[in-house]
Amino acid sequence: MLFYTTICIRAKFVIGLHPVNKTLFLNSKQDIRELSKEDLRQFFKKIGDKEFRGNQVYEWLWTKNAHSFEEMTNISLATREQLAKYFTINHIKVDKMQRSNDGTIKNAVRLYDDLIVESVLIPTETRTTACVSSQVGCSLNCNFCATARLKRMRNLNPDEIFDQVAAINQQSLLYHQRKLSNIVFMGMGEPLMNYENVIKAIEKITSEEGLAMSPKRITVSTSGIPEKIKKMADDEVKFNLALSLHSARDEVRTKMMPFNRKWSLASIREALEYWYRKTKSRVTYEYVVWKDVNDTQKDIDALVKFCKYIPCKVNLIEYNPIDDGEYQQADDQALTAYQQALEQERITVNVRRSRGKDIDAACGQLANKS
Ligand code: SF4
Repeated sequence: MLFYTTICIRAKFVIGLHPVNKTLFLNSKQDIRELSKEDLRQFFKKIGDKEFRGNQVYEWLWTKNAHSFEEMTNISLATREQLAKYFTINHIKVDKMQRSNDGTIKNAVRLYDDLIVESVLIPTETRTTACVSSQVGCSLNCNFCATARLKRMRNLNPDEIFDQVAAINQQSLLYHQRKLSNIVFMGMGEPLMNYENVIKAIEKITSEEGLAMSPKRITVSTSGIPEKIKKMADDEVKFNLALSLHSARDEVRTKMMPFNRKWSLASIREALEYWYRKTKSRVTYEYVVWKDVNDTQKDIDALVKFCKYIPCKVNLIEYNPIDDGEYQQADDQALTAYQQALEQERITVNVRRSRGKDIDAACGQLANKS
């Protein structure tokens, strides 16, 4: 992958200048969507065409979501042939689509190198949400998560993340007659372990030339990487932040999420305080209550305390057991106890029932089983 990238980046600047590198370039076509609009303008200038062709091609790629050069009908055939000679469009392909009884759709998405990730469309009465993946597999090892069983193969490129959203937007229009309203980065992978590409994808999703979605409709969910949370604050991102918290007690959280040894609750708390000071944007804590894991009064008290550090809201999420059934959803009594304790302290709390259970599309179930 590194080799491929090295060739591509270099080739971008040597078209027509260096016969050796040019040969390399011709032998390994570059994904055209790695190029900025200005790169495309320069490409056309170098091949003796008009620079504005770069704008036209850019519009086909990002606004019109073209899958092939043939679709670019306002570009001459000769120019399209030139493009096909130098470039490829590594568009994702929805290999398999499963529809749940509740309207949820799960996609098995094939990437250019035949790896597969999953994305999900979740419709409710008021919104349609895309849950997208950011990595193939995951390098973290949360014990309760099906994705953790797949080894991390690679990060997704910005265009592969963008394509998942564009494909779900099409499905939303087709099956629910409305545009996609929200995006959550809660699919496969830890988005902050693929920071640069996630940020680039969000830039495209929110740009007028992309899907023109508001960043306020986008939530990046992390398991808690302090230095990246601070970087997001420094980068003044405009989207929302969610933390998969699941326990506010180190000894309990480390059992479920072993990387908590390295990124302790104290360091996450410090990063979140930094985030809030800089962005003034409240954080959502995602929290599953498991039977005999985090369903005691001590757990509830620890969460209430943690919630007081910065403005936040809590989503209590229904859990969907994965094959071995080691983790089980706590009973309703435990959930109610959490809810009441939080409400008593005026902390906003929502109970989120899972969707798409019958097709293994619910939270924590994405594992390329389809
Ligand atoms: S919960 Fe998220 S961070 Fe943890 S293993 Fe699963 S995909 Fe990775």
